[in-house]
Amino acid sequence: MNIAIVGAGIVGVTTAYELARDGHEVTVFDQRSAAAEEASFATAGLLAPLLLSPWALPGYGLPLRLLGAQATLRVAGGLNQRNLAWLWRWRAAGLAHSAPATALERLAQYSQARVQTIAQQHELDFEASEGRLVLLRTEAERTTLQPALQVLRDLGMAAHEIDAAAAQKLEPGLSPETALAGAIHLPGAGAGNCRLFAQLLRQGTQGSGVHFAFNTRIERIHSAPTGLQVHGEPDLRRFDAVVLCAGMASAALLPALGLRLPMTAVYGYSVSAPLREDTHAPRASVVDLGHQISITRLGQRVRIAGGAELAGADAAHHAPTLQRLYRTLNDWFPGGAQLSSGLQVWRGARTMLPDGAPVLGASGVPGLWLNTGHGAGGWALACGSARALADLIAQREPEVSLDGLGMRRF
Ligand SMILES: Cc1cc2nc3c(=O)[nH]c(=O)nc-3n(C[C@H](O)[C@H](O)[C@H](O)COP(=O)(O)OP(=O)(O)OC[C@H]3O[C@@H](n4cnc5c(N)ncnc54)[C@H](O)[C@@H]3O)c2cc1C
Repeated sequence: MNIAIVGAGIVGVTTAYELARDGHEVTVFDQRSAAAEEASFATAGLLAPLLLSPWALPGYGLPLRLLGAQATLRVAGGLNQRNLAWLWRWRAAGLAHSAPATALERLAQYSQARVQTIAQQHELDFEASEGRLVLLRTEAERTTLQPALQVLRDLGMAAHEIDAAAAQKLEPGLSPETALAGAIHLPGAGAGNCRLFAQLLRQGTQGSGVHFAFNTRIERIHSAPTGLQVHGEPDLRRFDAVVLCAGMASAALLPALGLRLPMTAVYGYSVSAPLREDTHAPRASVVDLGHQISITRLGQRVRIAGGAELAGADAAHHAPTLQRLYRTLNDWFPGGAQLSSGLQVWRGARTMLPDGAPVLGASGVPGLWLNTGHGAGGWALACGSARALADLIAQREPEVSLDGLGMRRF
């Protein structure tokens, strides 16, 4: 088939790769001039397991708090109706534990295996690391993550509860000055540079069945006939199928087809800093559960990521949130990164549906497929989502269950 993909973020690029492998002719459209320039630009880098990552799913991390020093979500510039409705549903999903946690964690595991296979096959060096510590500042935090641990254990994944001394052995750079109640060690956890992976894969797929059309904005998706209206072009470009991977813009492209997705952008930040002292830096990835901040080793850099805010796309960087990132790095790995120069500070959107899960599969409109709304786990879920979607398009049963991830739930 001749298939169009809207969006060249990590989800669009991996979808293009899998569809081309199945023998389709693929064109990927993106309004930006390169792949992974929006949400996929500077993610924390965390792959599976998904459930212990910051902001993964409602009901599986810290509870939603909007006010006070313990606020988990910062609301700036007032709440509009869409954000309010999203907040209400996110909170309700958290209280009811109704997010499709098991399906998502399985998809994350499947996805991680797919990342490794693709990286091996094409010799992609994407600054990968293995193993993660989830650091617990208090015993209360251990209680908070029991529902997530239960899901991991039910799926047979290794998650060891260890004490501070054992954590120190695994991450020798951890500062003994900061009180540590214990940690969860996830030996099978993965991490790596999402943007680098997307760019390497894009270079690899270009020409082999995939064409990338950058600086090309899609105004509208059409059905009957299936096609795309490109900005500035009078005629419809016709395709046999269209896959929507447009991140936050997906919600705006759907209403013209009579579809709606209750998406909201939850913005977060990352700071990438050059390594200073190797022995004082993390070896792999670390999550500070209480602060919902991750610290990841990416090659010769350390990336600190966190913060959650409902604010406009163009809102100024929130200095107190950035200071919290620096403080957290200093708490755990003082001297590990160079913070005086060479910093990359980034603010990006987590495109969140109210249950934290993406929409994956047929849209209900003939010819239109959806692979979008991956929230805080787009990198962790991209390769698996892409393979599963390609299987659906080929009318094959995906190797992983997609129960609870379809459009019908909205
Ligand atoms: C601080 C932070 C840390 C994160 N850490 C992690 C992590 O550790 N692990 C993880 O799994 N996830 C993480 N995430 C989430 C992850 O970044 C996203 O889930 C993922 O990048 C989404 O990828 P995407 O391809 O769907 O969207 P995007 O990367 O946003 O791609 C969508 C693309 O569509 C294009 N587009 C949009 N509209 C149009 C149009 N009309 N015409 C043409 N092109 C269009 C855009 O230009 C863009 O390139 C993090 C997010 C944040 C903010």
